[in-house]
Amino acid sequence: MSKTISEKDNKAICERYRSILRSLRDRSTSQELATIRRALDLALDAHSNVRRKSGEPYILHPMEVAMIVVDEIGLGATSVVSALLHDVVEDSDYRLEDIDRLFGEKIARIIDGLTKISGVFDQHTSAQAENFRKMLLTLGDDVRVILIKLADRLHNMRTMDSMPAHKQVKIASETLYLYAPLAHRLGLYNIKTELEDLSLKYTEPEVYRDISMRMKAAQADELRYLKKFSSPIDAALKDEGIKFTIKERAKSIYSIRKKMINQSVSFDEIYDKYAIRIILDTPLEGEKAICWRVFSIVTDFYHPNPDRMRDWISTPKSTGYESLHTTVMGPDGNWVEVQIRSKRMDEQAEKGLASHWKYKGDDEVDSRFEQWINRVREALESNNSTALEFIDDFRFNLFSDEIFVFTPKGELKTLPKGACCIDFSFEIHTDIGLRTLGAKVNGKMVQLNYKLKSGDQIEIITSSNQKPKEEWLNYVVTSKARTKIKSSLNEERKQIAEYGKEILTRKLNFLKIKLNDQVETQLLNFLKLRDSQELYYQAGLQLLDNQLLKSFVKERNGGFVGYIRNRFKKQGASPQIISNSQDKTPSKLVFGTEEQDLPYKLSPCCSPIDGDDVFGYITINEGIKVHRKDCPNAIALQSRYGNRIIKATWISSDVVEFTANLVIKGIDTVGLVNRITQLISHDLDVNIRSININGDAGIFEGSIVVVVRNRVHLQNIINEIKKIEGIKSVERYLKNA
Ligand code: MN
Repeated sequence: MSKTISEKDNKAICERYRSILRSLRDRSTSQELATIRRALDLALDAHSNVRRKSGEPYILHPMEVAMIVVDEIGLGATSVVSALLHDVVEDSDYRLEDIDRLFGEKIARIIDGLTKISGVFDQHTSAQAENFRKMLLTLGDDVRVILIKLADRLHNMRTMDSMPAHKQVKIASETLYLYAPLAHRLGLYNIKTELEDLSLKYTEPEVYRDISMRMKAAQADELRYLKKFSSPIDAALKDEGIKFTIKERAKSIYSIRKKMINQSVSFDEIYDKYAIRIILDTPLEGEKAICWRVFSIVTDFYHPNPDRMRDWISTPKSTGYESLHTTVMGPDGNWVEVQIRSKRMDEQAEKGLASHWKYKGDDEVDSRFEQWINRVREALESNNSTALEFIDDFRFNLFSDEIFVFTPKGELKTLPKGACCIDFSFEIHTDIGLRTLGAKVNGKMVQLNYKLKSGDQIEIITSSNQKPKEEWLNYVVTSKARTKIKSSLNEERKQIAEYGKEILTRKLNFLKIKLNDQVETQLLNFLKLRDSQELYYQAGLQLLDNQLLKSFVKERNGGFVGYIRNRFKKQGASPQIISNSQDKTPSKLVFGTEEQDLPYKLSPCCSPIDGDDVFGYITINEGIKVHRKDCPNAIALQSRYGNRIIKATWISSDVVEFTANLVIKGIDTVGLVNRITQLISHDLDVNIRSININGDAGIFEGSIVVVVRNRVHLQNIINEIKKIEGIKSVERYLKNA
């Protein structure tokens, strides 16, 4: 070894080298061990004369990372070589080509991945996010890149004491933000816990010290209690001839801290600081049966809490986690969590997917994990949101617990907790997702934003007329659904805007105005719109009709609009015109005896449609609001603010659309919902905005929001629905859903 290294350093290096070899012995060939030696020599050369902040020779860092990779993650020789070389290209004159030439393409690819992401957290936030995204992209190439990166991070966290405090806090926060959840998602529970505890130690040192001291102080009492708790179980298991060990597991400091915050309780109020884990020494076949046998023995002594039963043996988590958890009432009225699992399950839970490799060979990954990787890759490839948005989505998916739901045919689907029907339909197929109209959960119609629960069976009702709605983005939680909805909305918007520009050009030509940049700007100001795409989009939706454009021309010469505008301006506000696509206000009404075209909004309290008897009410801040004359608020407004009431008259046109809410009652028969939606969306070609029907004991009541042209159109639809067998009544409901 290099002569620049002192006797003492040399001893430390040799010691670590030997333990790496010891850990790898029974799973590596002599050729692999020789490669490891070559890697060590190269790393020694590359990092010679370099010391870490702690004063140690730098080489000890890659060696420790290699140790973590073998002992704590359970990877093999290829990963050890890569770990030893992980900082070589970054920190020395060796280049990737050298690695390729000396160690082959596979290792070079892993080092390339590690080098690319090594700068991940050194820049400002958005660059961080972008880099993290790049890092995740390497998931598709070789998961070992991420695993070695985690080992690298873990060792850096373990040896952070000699760093300046501000750096400690920064690195610890990043670890908490991304690496710990990532370790969690990869099933590396021990590493995740250690990363979290170390992060807390540097981000909130006092809190960390306080909790760990209290844990120590309470330890003796806790352990005595747990002994008392487990002794009858221990005896009964021995009687049955079951081979087992019982471990007492303390909750991590970080998770105690989290619980104190989330439930706003004090340290003393947390009752489940410890859990009992019963690990069964049993052959693979029959391990499930014996776990349940033990569960039955435990609950013979202590009463289980039915809400806190977790069966991850019948349905393992997507990380591969298998275990049976129950919380039972122990002596003196304390809840105690009991975890039951086989030795194999325990090892997998501690080492995550690495132990899958141990059981299945170095390169083979468990299919459930493969599924998860695929989902991440899919999200990455189709994702066109900004890097920061992406990280938020991704972190959500990392953190969230999972639920298990079923298709009508009984196929199992895994979704993050909080997922709704729309997430489910996109999970089945993008085409289904894009055409989702309604959903039945366990046989009952539910709203599309219904949050799914484990065990739900979901049937999606689709319509070829249906398109994704902007509001869907408020409900969905999976990045797959979010991405597909966004790109569909954007696509549609773009098309409508293109069409809109043509229309607007034509209409302005007719008014002898040429559409140029200056006119565009004037129009944007007049309509209070954000950008030209919004303008053309609204034009495409036929929201800018001739009346409105005429008043635009008038405004340039003052006129009544100018008068109203100035009046509002003086009060520090302005009437809002069609300002975003969510509350489209078609310029379909004219006001006053002179039938002026003024900005207005249809009041949501009675949702007037073309043909209704209406009036305008001049509000202080929001321009003119239009109410139906039979609106419950009408009398009060007209009597109290007579001077603000303005006559409103409909101008006929059949391109503008209104929403109306129908309440339908009748007798529930098989397929009724489908018959109604079929009639409305297919036979009558009317768009359904939302549908919500509840059947109960043969009677059903539901509401459907339809998009109609006018009162006559709506009446026709009502008449047609009434003809369906089983329908008792169809009425227009005053308030929109
Ligand atoms: Mn490193």
